[in-house]
Amino acid sequence: MRSAKDPNYQKPLTRLIDTAAGPLDLKGHEAEGGYAALRKAIKDLKPQDVQAKVKEANLRGRGGAGFPTGIKWSLIPMGPDAGAKYLVCNADEMEPGTFKDRLLMEQAPHQLVEAMAVAAYAIQAQTGYIFLRGEYVVAAERLNKAIAEARAAGLLGQNILGGPWSFELYVHTGAGRYICGEETALINSLEGRRANPRAKPPFPQIAGLWGRPTIVNNVETLSNVPHILLNGPTWFKELNQGKTSDAGTKMYGVSGRANQPGCWELPMGTTARELLEVHAGGMRGGKKLKAWLPGGASTDFLLPEHLDLPMDFDTIARAGSRMGTGLITVVAEDQSIVSAVRNLEEFFARESCGWCTPCRDGLPWTVKILRAIENGQGKTGDIEQLSKMTRWLGPGRTFCAHAPGAMEPLQSAIKYFRDEFEIGIVCDIDSAKPDVCILPA
Ligand code: NAD
Repeated sequence: MRSAKDPNYQKPLTRLIDTAAGPLDLKGHEAEGGYAALRKAIKDLKPQDVQAKVKEANLRGRGGAGFPTGIKWSLIPMGPDAGAKYLVCNADEMEPGTFKDRLLMEQAPHQLVEAMAVAAYAIQAQTGYIFLRGEYVVAAERLNKAIAEARAAGLLGQNILGGPWSFELYVHTGAGRYICGEETALINSLEGRRANPRAKPPFPQIAGLWGRPTIVNNVETLSNVPHILLNGPTWFKELNQGKTSDAGTKMYGVSGRANQPGCWELPMGTTARELLEVHAGGMRGGKKLKAWLPGGASTDFLLPEHLDLPMDFDTIARAGSRMGTGLITVVAEDQSIVSAVRNLEEFFARESCGWCTPCRDGLPWTVKILRAIENGQGKTGDIEQLSKMTRWLGPGRTFCAHAPGAMEPLQSAIKYFRDEFEIGIVCDIDSAKPDVCILPA
């Protein structure tokens, strides 16, 4: 990623949408110091040294969960008898409102290729796959070209830089399912199977692709690795400019009813207020902000009063949500929260893999109730039913995090905006509350 020490990086002009920000070819990437980290790793460092630097840098997973990358890597078996191991880049970015990885891949493809080579060296993987969202056609073209250039230059393939280590890297395009972003469903898909999640444990670090030890990391997470190696863990930690205890920079963004939706690399711990008011130019049409999702559809809504919190994994969790991918979605005062949630739940219902009953049947049921309330035809007890759904489809009740994630915006919408649900309930003479009842015309 571009360095936070670059004096231009905070200016609104650095909006990455539709601008070719980084060098696309090998020559241009090397002119900016590209592949120096790979050379340093292979010539000067042992694989475990690379792992140690990433661990010390406290790089947390940027896919949304924030799991420490160094710890994940340290769980993979090392040593001469470890056998076949894989590195997989999760580039199946399909979280609504999230488009940071697309920009990183389209605008700095060699950065990711180099990052994968360095990470693969650290865990001594012989084969890597970039599992890419199928719709990301430009990213696929650029990554494939970058891989071919790197292979021709001896930076990938057999005996990299003349040493004993070999690493082959491939782009694999997915067929466009949200669940493929779940790492074990992704692994099944890579193996040519239906993309259902697997039970964890065992985690992929022990039994992943083809049953072999596998590390799955997000695009943004990996893109940090060469910079950590070249500049050191302390440099990386200080990129947060003291705003939070989480290290580094973050690809933040804004979508929804803002003046200038976009994506920017900023110090970790930047507030949502700065994202919205400084970088995204405020709410469109001067409307007031009603609510915001911190990082994708599978996070709880937060309110305007939360705008000044540092956007980091732990602070946003303490506020009752999750930072997730860090690309916020804003909802304006004149937008219906019921409609917004119905829209999200339709997405989740359509994307359920159908493997477990609560998710397969519970999500369409949720949509049906929400649609009735949205149309002013909800029944007495529907809000309570929706609240029960948030428990029945919540953590521990389903095979993976899909349905629990889907329940997050719903539960927080009911918590903060119950009155908007109540006005969609049709008057029921026996039990309706007269003050919230809409009489049929
Ligand atoms: P998770 O917390 O189960 O796992 C995160 C990572 O940490 C995984 O790689 C997992 O293997 C590892 N891990 C967790 N616990 C471990 C343990 N005890 N031992 C070893 N490794 C462990 O989360 P998840 O279900 O993989 O991902 C959920 C996140 O994905 C959500 O935060 C959501 O925001 C995000 N998400 C992102 C996108 C996107 O497009 N970027 C799409 C959907 C969901």
